[in-house]
Amino acid sequence: MQRYQISGEKAFQIAKLDANDTADWDGKKKEAKKTFKTLRKELAVLQQKLYAEHKHKVLIILQAMDTGGKDGTIRAIFEEVNPQGVKVANFKVPSTFELDHDYLWRVHQKVPGKGEIVIFNRSHYEDVLVVRVHDLVPKEVWNKRYDHINAFEKMLADEGTTILKFYLHIDKDEQKQRFLERLTNPHKQWKFNPNDLEERKLWDQYQKAYQDALNKTSTPWAPWYAIPANHNWYRNLCISSIIVDTLRSFTMGYPDPIPDPQQYVKQLENESARD
Ligand code: ADP
Repeated sequence: MQRYQISGEKAFQIAKLDANDTADWDGKKKEAKKTFKTLRKELAVLQQKLYAEHKHKVLIILQAMDTGGKDGTIRAIFEEVNPQGVKVANFKVPSTFELDHDYLWRVHQKVPGKGEIVIFNRSHYEDVLVVRVHDLVPKEVWNKRYDHINAFEKMLADEGTTILKFYLHIDKDEQKQRFLERLTNPHKQWKFNPNDLEERKLWDQYQKAYQDALNKTSTPWAPWYAIPANHNWYRNLCISSIIVDTLRSFTMGYPDPIPDPQQYVKQLENESARD
């Protein structure tokens, strides 16, 4: 799955990434779904260890165009984990109070602690995406943010956080289909906002902003993966396999058991004998 990692060696060109790509899994959707379910089970086991061991901190960042599948990815991949150790942080239009602070302030408060996985549904990257596309601050301001972000993420990594960043890449036709589905499916209509179509008109500007952000902020300590996401089953397979690979590499263990647990077993058995 390294195939989708933005390495920094070669400039990433968003227009060259086929949102329909399914690589070696072409024509093997059924098999891919089965593999995904196995990975999802393994993720639940690994997450349980991560929580018990209370050592690693994992930050997963999801970014995408509207309808790109962030919500669906979270629902599908994290269905079986222990909700005690997994949190989702959503970053919407900042409040006036948040805007009174620097743009990383609200983000820093949500990063994972030991034993936790935190998923960012949107993130500080909005501050070089929507903010740039809509000129919410001047270029001199947003242009410095790539360096801030790299330094911020380096600090988190140096302090023990593992960071994985996923850009879910759909194409413009797919977005149209997904909007139409939202508008006609009573269970999805609530998700549609007429302003989404105004944002759609800015598709090219967003793509350029994404391309720059991914090229400037994919680092060894916080790599970006640009995942073809027109096919949900392939997107889920790619993302879950990258997460599981990463957690496997931790070689985690449960904390040491207390010495001589047998004495407590005896204590409890004596208790029931007395009753
Ligand atoms: P989502 O699309 O993530 O399901 P919403 O429909 O509520 O949730 O959209 C959240 C909106 O907040 C998006 O349009 C996003 O661009 C915007 N947003 C997030 N962070 C910022 C930011 N820092 N500045 C301005 N807008 C932001």
